[in-house]
Order: sequence, then C-alpha cells, then structure tokens
Amino acid sequence: MPLPAAIRPGPAEVKRIARAVANRCELCGDECPACLLEIHFITRGRAIPSRREDLHRCILALCSRCHRDLHRYRCTLRDQQFLVSLRDPRVSREVRRILSSPPRPYSAPDTFDPGRFFLDPSPVPWGWVV
Ligand SMILES: [Zn+2]
Ligand SMILES: [Zn+2]
Repeated sequence: MPLPAAIRPGPAEVKRIARAVANRCELCGDECPACLLEIHFITRGRAIPSRREDLHRCILALCSRCHRDLHRYRCTLRDQQFLVSLRDPRVSREVRRILSSPPRPYSAPDTFDPGRFFLDPSPVPWGWVV
C-alpha cells in the first residue's frame, strides 16, 4: 500500500536520505548513485505511521536489486525491522530530522542558473534528464 501523500517523502528528501546513508544500500552496502537509491516502506503488518517523525523506522534506502529481491523473496517484517535497527544511530537521527520537517511543495526558483547543476556534488549518470 503506498504511503499517503501527506507523509510520503518528496524527491528532495529522498536525495537527502541517500546522502545521509552515504549513498550506500542499507542491505548489501554497495555504493549507489543517489538518484538510483530507492526508498522501501515497511508497511506490511503494521499501521502506516501518521506522524512523519516515526517514518524513519519504516524506511530502508536500497539499491534497486536489493529492493526487488526484498519484495520478491518476501523478506519478513522482523528482518526488515532488524535492518533498520542496524542503522548507525547518527544516520538514524539524520534521517529522522530529514523526515520530521513538513514536506514543502515544489516551487520553481525565481532565477534559473544552469551553472548550479555543475556545482552539485551528487553523481548524475550520463543521459539522466534532470
Ligand atoms: Zn543493495
Ligand atoms: Zn519496497
């Protein structure tokens, strides 16, 4: 079941979460470009959290391969929560902080400076349309 829009992290938050986990998949530990990390929501068997502060315990940042396998092999709720418990407490706090701020609707900047994209340190694969 998808998360309600009110608490679902937006693209900017997903990018910050990827940075918080050092662009590493939380299952296999492989480094993965920020834009390719996927956020998995642990919602099976428990109520969807209504507060964004609680959301950090219900997400995993995964590479696409692990994300697919986790669904394909029906990783148990217990194992998913175990993975969350392995998260470094500092990373946990940072993810919580990112998710605790209310989502902001996207608004285009007043001035557009294409040079900004070249200053962005996050890796963007060739061919990726920003
Ligand atoms: Zn992985
Ligand atoms: Zn998932």
